This record gives sequence, structure tokens and C-alpha cells, in this order.
Amino acid sequence: MTLRAGVIAVQGDVSEHADAIRRAAASHGEDADVIEIRESGLVPDCDVLLMPGGESTTISRLLEREGIAPEIEAHVAANKPVLATCAGLIVASTDAKDDRVSPLGLVDVTVDRNAFGRQVDSFEAPLEVTGLDDPFPAVFIRAPLIDSVGEGVEVLAEWDDRPVAVRDGPVVATSFHPELTDDYRIHDLAFFEQVHA
Ligand code: GLN
Repeated sequence: MTLRAGVIAVQGDVSEHADAIRRAAASHGEDADVIEIRESGLVPDCDVLLMPGGESTTISRLLEREGIAPEIEAHVAANKPVLATCAGLIVASTDAKDDRVSPLGLVDVTVDRNAFGRQVDSFEAPLEVTGLDDPFPAVFIRAPLIDSVGEGVEVLAEWDDRPVAVRDGPVVATSFHPELTDDYRIHDLAFFEQVHA
């Protein structure tokens, strides 16, 4: 089977996400047909979506301008999987507490942008994640803090007593960057268990 994987490509670490979903699919003996999304009309053809890290204010502005935002909302309303990382989590949240971000409300969490510090404070840490047997090598880069979690949101991982990975229905969102490692277990949690469910 070929997985049609849309990578939101208006800004951010797009090629890393494209490579990671191809490798994650290959580890399940599948091909991923990666569709880079910079305009409206492509999201409806996708089985799964990836929302990269980058600069959430820029990503949000371009998603609204290009008419992609409502298509992502419809994808989630149809219960199709999404993996949102870092800036992707900020855009997917219900409130980013920043007027320059129009949150899509895909995940019922509020976030604090850059709460884990500036670029210089970026770090990697082994993270216990629900559903994974061994710690995940989590890379945090100017990571957002999830500061409140709605009912029905499952916290998959915490760092320093703060949620850093959550699942809300078909959406898995992380403060860190699984696409920057060669460990695909977060992709597995987000996609391969659900796609075959
Ligand atoms: N803090 C950044 C933002 O607000 C996100 C950083 C990242 O995606 N690595 O957009």
C-alpha cells in the first residue's frame, strides 16, 4: 500500500519530515508518496498530515492566506491522522497566547511559545513515552510548553512534570522533533497503528 503523506510545507523543517515519513513507512514495508503542501486543494487527497517545526507565526499566516487552514481542520474532523511537531503543535493548539498565531484547535491544549528557552537552550533528552518500551531521544529546539490540557487529551510524555507529547483523537503533537532522529516510534504511534486500525 502507498501512504499519501502531506507535509505542510509553507515554512519549517519540511525535508526532514518528508525523509522521516518515507523511512518510517519503509520500516513497515510501505511506500510513502510525500505531497508538499504550499497551496489549497492538496490536503483532501492525503491519508495523513505532518505539521513541521519552524516559526509558528509564519506558518500560521501562510496557512490562513493560502486557504490551507480549513482543509487541515476538515482532515481532522474526518478523523484522519496528523503528527504536529513543535511549531506545528503551536499552530494545532487551541490557544497559543500570541495574536500572530491563529490556532487551528486540532488539539485541546494551550501552549506557551518558546517556554523551554531560545535556540541556545535547545537540548536532547531521553523521554519515557506511553506505549514505547524504551526512552525516546527527544530533541527540543526553542520548544513550546503545553500549559493546559483539555479533557479527552491523553498525555503521552512529560518532561520536568510538563506535558511534551499528547494525543487528541487522530492528532499526536509533540514539543520536540521526532523527525530529526532516525527513531520512528513516534511516527508509529501517530500513523501506523491508526492507519491500520
Ligand atoms: N518556538 C518556535 C515558534 O514559536 C517553534 C520552534 C520550533 O519549531 N523548533 O514557532
